[in-house]
Amino acid sequence: MDIKAIDKEYVANTYARFPVQIVSGKGSLVWDETGKEYIDMGSGIGVTAFGIADELWKTAVVEQLGKVQHMSNLYYTEPCALLAKQLCEKTGMKKVFFCNSGAEANECAIKAARKYASAKHGAAYSTVVTLENSFHGRTLTTLAATGQAHYHELFQPLTPGFVHAPANDLESTKAIALANQAAAVMIECVQGEGGVIPLDRDYVQGLASFCSAEDILLIVDEVQTGNGRSGALYSYMNYGVEPDIVSTAKGLGGGLPLGATLFGEKTQDVLQNGDHGSTFGGNPISCAGALSILGRLDTALLEDVKAKSAYVFSAFQGAPGVEAVTGMGLMIGLKTTKPAGEVLHTCLENGVLCLTAKDKLRLLPALNIPMATLEKAVGIILQACA
Ligand SMILES: *Cc1c(COP(=O)(O)O)cnc(C)c1O
Repeated sequence: MDIKAIDKEYVANTYARFPVQIVSGKGSLVWDETGKEYIDMGSGIGVTAFGIADELWKTAVVEQLGKVQHMSNLYYTEPCALLAKQLCEKTGMKKVFFCNSGAEANECAIKAARKYASAKHGAAYSTVVTLENSFHGRTLTTLAATGQAHYHELFQPLTPGFVHAPANDLESTKAIALANQAAAVMIECVQGEGGVIPLDRDYVQGLASFCSAEDILLIVDEVQTGNGRSGALYSYMNYGVEPDIVSTAKGLGGGLPLGATLFGEKTQDVLQNGDHGSTFGGNPISCAGALSILGRLDTALLEDVKAKSAYVFSAFQGAPGVEAVTGMGLMIGLKTTKPAGEVLHTCLENGVLCLTAKDKLRLLPALNIPMATLEKAVGIILQACA
């Protein structure tokens, strides 16, 4: 069977797939249909936090699969309750809404922010300020939130009520928020799709104090940066701020669809019975898998992420064909002299799967990638950059 041909004929053309069919994997290694081995430096775009077919995750998922695969949210299930508890205990947030993806987690955050602000300040306070070059998802509302015009053009009209402010320009962000009667400001601490660009520490801290003083909610989109990726459990923890709402997804489920919106002190009771819902949200299998991921994101693991990050940064800084290394933790962007797409294809040929983000090569390896595997991948990428 020519799977590539069948896919080309029957799957919508939204993805420019690489000419590789992945048939299996283990940890940070995957194999294609010819048996060729690749080191996975993309983790399904930051999803398979502990790699492919991770044993603890698999056991948790399979065990739950044998008990109950789905119940509606009309009933209590253990994995959902325990995951919410663990997320709150580890973050200090107070309540969690579960959904299935990053875009949905942001939709929930935006709905909650609008309800909060409208009750607190009046219906006019509905605008959500997001940053230029941000990425918040593909639904019409999260596209409107996304501060990159090229995603918008073909899909007008988008949901109204979003304005974009220049990242790292505090005075301008404040002025835009005040002029637009903002309900919330939503940021990614490290802009992922925008090119793996961390926000300045002073900016994020200044923004957090401003939001707190004006009672404008601070929403941090941790869809890509979250769940250990940045070297902290959530990237805002690297900045010493306390968001009112946190959205996350990607790595949380370890490979199964799962999103979560976390509410802090001020926002915990905003969403009430009937305000929001999701048929699949809090799915017991996804949540059981997530418990096995979250439970391992302890200090030792995060220190290991930081150590691997330091190694990757030092390996690439000043290397031939590498103009800049950006990012945080195991979320790393390389500005390469050659076009990033060209470097990516050379890596693919040589057995390393990478990603791009804007003009950068982007690396999001599994958090537990063995050091020897990481070194091998780095060697192949260095060669491709030079
Ligand atoms: C990937 C991503 C999203 C969208 O997540 P989906 O699961 O694809 O809906 C939103 N925000 C950020 C920061 C992301 O990286």
